[in-house]
Amino acid sequence: MRNFQKEALILSVRNTGENNRIVSYLTKDEGILTSVLYGGPKSKLRSLVSPFNSGTIYLYNDEAKHSSKITDFDVKKYHLSFRESLFKTWAATLAVEVVISTKCAGSPEECFVMLNGFLDGLDLLDENQGQTGLIRFLWRYIGLLGVQPDTTNCQRCHKPFYSGNFSQNTLQYKTGGVIYSHSENGFVCTDCYKASFDNPERLLFSEITSKSVVYLQATSMCEPSVSRNMKLSDDEIASLKGFLYSHIESSVGTKIKTLHSGIGIL
Ligand SMILES: [Zn+2]
Repeated sequence: MRNFQKEALILSVRNTGENNRIVSYLTKDEGILTSVLYGGPKSKLRSLVSPFNSGTIYLYNDEAKHSSKITDFDVKKYHLSFRESLFKTWAATLAVEVVISTKCAGSPEECFVMLNGFLDGLDLLDENQGQTGLIRFLWRYIGLLGVQPDTTNCQRCHKPFYSGNFSQNTLQYKTGGVIYSHSENGFVCTDCYKASFDNPERLLFSEITSKSVVYLQATSMCEPSVSRNMKLSDDEIASLKGFLYSHIESSVGTKIKTLHSGIGIL
């Protein structure tokens, strides 16, 4: 029997028999862990151990009984603005569902940093900025899963999409954008896209503007301020979200409930 303490982000809380709750939380070293929280509805600890709260969790583990009990939780971040914004609550719920269903993409440490960074940022941003914050989180998470499509060269003919300078903070793309091919999980150039119409197979495509691809590229390759300072139009945000929602769902391999119940909010 031992006492432990860890930095933790609460992911989910569900009721179990009597007044007890099963709590899942994300840690840097061990990924997602589960412990039991005892106490009635009026317990102070119960109100602290709520989804999206992060801080130091205190545990009492009994290895012989395979049990782990939460004894205290010192909350450092409450993310209070989520309670006033339906969008923020749903965006946070989506990120948590993706992390749970992919078991931290097998990289607990990176996942811990990424999810905490997203939630802390979302708390500070307004809803509009939160939309692009969600885009950046999903794109980077797709990278963590190892299934990020190549944003530099056409998947089929391997010609580069970009022209001119290509360095740390300056990215220039050819006009016309790129086309995302769902069946190939890759970006193709407009020439290859046109050629695919001779193909009798039904292929699903999404058009993505040059600027949107630059945005994704900057998110994964440049310092965070570069993509954060880029302005996207409402249409570009909508099409990037559509592309990323569809991509993350196929990467996860199961239906993401939050995406379907959150239609119209996300
Ligand atoms: Zn091509």
